[in-house]
Amino acid sequence: MAETKYIFVTGGVSSSLGKGIIAASLAKLLQARGFRTTIQKLDPYINVDPGTLNPYEHGECYVTEDGAETDLDLGHYERFLNVNTSQANNVTTGRIYQSVIEKERRGEFLGKTVQVVPHITNEIKDRIQILGQNGEYDIVITEIGGTVGDIESLPYIEAVRQLKWELGDENALIIHLTLVPYLAAAGELKTKPTQHSVKTLMESGLKADILVCRTEHELSDDIRRKLAIFCNVRQEAVIQSIDAATIYDVPNLMLKEGLDTVTLKKLHLPDDTTPNLDRWNQFLDRHKNPKAEITIGLIGKYVELQDSYKSILEAFIHAGAENEVKVNVESIHSEFINENTIDHKFANLDGVLVAPGFGERGVEGKIDAVKYAREHNLPFLGICLGMQMAVIEFARNVLKLKTANSTEMDPKTKHPVIDLMEEQKEVTHKGGTMRLGAWDCKLTEGSKIQKAYGKTEIKERHRHRYEYNNKYKDELEKSGMLSTGINPETGLVEVVELKDHPWFVGVQYHPEYKSTVATPHPVFIAFIKAAYDFSKNKENASLA
Ligand code: GLN
Repeated sequence: MAETKYIFVTGGVSSSLGKGIIAASLAKLLQARGFRTTIQKLDPYINVDPGTLNPYEHGECYVTEDGAETDLDLGHYERFLNVNTSQANNVTTGRIYQSVIEKERRGEFLGKTVQVVPHITNEIKDRIQILGQNGEYDIVITEIGGTVGDIESLPYIEAVRQLKWELGDENALIIHLTLVPYLAAAGELKTKPTQHSVKTLMESGLKADILVCRTEHELSDDIRRKLAIFCNVRQEAVIQSIDAATIYDVPNLMLKEGLDTVTLKKLHLPDDTTPNLDRWNQFLDRHKNPKAEITIGLIGKYVELQDSYKSILEAFIHAGAENEVKVNVESIHSEFINENTIDHKFANLDGVLVAPGFGERGVEGKIDAVKYAREHNLPFLGICLGMQMAVIEFARNVLKLKTANSTEMDPKTKHPVIDLMEEQKEVTHKGGTMRLGAWDCKLTEGSKIQKAYGKTEIKERHRHRYEYNNKYKDELEKSGMLSTGINPETGLVEVVELKDHPWFVGVQYHPEYKSTVATPHPVFIAFIKAAYDFSKNKENASLA
């Protein structure tokens, strides 16, 4: 195919309408027709990346293979497309300004006054086109964060306007996602907010080619006609996005609405294929028809926010489908776990996952959770901080090093079983300075983790500053906490597991980032299987 085509997804009326899911669903349909597709997110905030954002602000920070700390939408893109994203797939206003200011300092603007137009808009245009440059993709979908009319979105909208003019109508397309609210008192769907939103877009010189309308009720033909005529789009380009039972239904819903067909027509691309969604639908079928249910306790300190552990929750869905079980997740706040509450809170669980995290708040509850799982033979998965807590618990209660801790929680601890990496000791800047991205790991033949992967060499994504302290390795191993995954270059321990336990694994890396619909993550598959076995044993025991 000659030129890369660009699709821009903008939002109107309200945030949280699911632009990321629409972008990912369209990308899935185009990919399933054989087009090489990628998705990019432009975020209008001034943080250089979301790595420094508290999960309460912006949900989970997603990490790519090349170590970029990115918006959680990139997780959706990877889960839907099964293709890696990279630093180039997430751009923020902070990063745009940083690079323009660095160029100015280097004297690259040759004495010119540096301005939002053209310098900031040019930088945005360059960043959009980076993904289309080396012939790797036929189609690049760019999702613009925020809603039209926001002050901070203006440079992005202007950059898109210029780019569409430069590329030509057959090479660039605007999809506008809006809300069509239902007024219960009037018993009607209302189109006016959408009309206003499209008008705001037009004031910035952009015409919506396709309208995707988020709605709680079916759009009638009348409503579609009204939206088409007042928003200046063809009726076939009015696409209904109705609330779905799961985000994984959205590609099929978009297929039914013909979003892919209108897109191809407008971009002058051949529409002589049908999307092959066999693998996708096989997953959906298993997800919707489970043979059994299990309950996993998710122990963390951001559990009241569903976006904070997004990738973990999605990985459960993928691995559940693979095992044909429904995974019910019981979110348990680690600050409320203690000796008095734990028996009651954990009584119905078939597995425990201790989540990643930072800082001291809630860690003692996490350690209690580990202890409970270890002593009750309850399947356990500890991720990053969760793995570190498993090492601390074992050191305290099995090695009897009562004051064992991580130097993150107690810098003066006598037994720093988890300690800051040497190269981290001089680091003072917070942004982008952790151990990030994919690192090699070698697994011990015959270990639980090796059996889960079915191989000994793996590469997994990291995001942390602290590490297992090798000074305690011999002692931990002798008492039954095995180090079964090691970084071959540095000798750092990446995986621990218990010798005498049905399934107790702690991983220093984040397996959840690599779980997708097409390839559910082996660690999650094995953990869910162990939890399923546990639940069956429990049932058999109660019947006996
Ligand atoms: N706070 C821990 C560290 O920096 C764990 C980080 C995490 O769980 N992602 O090492």
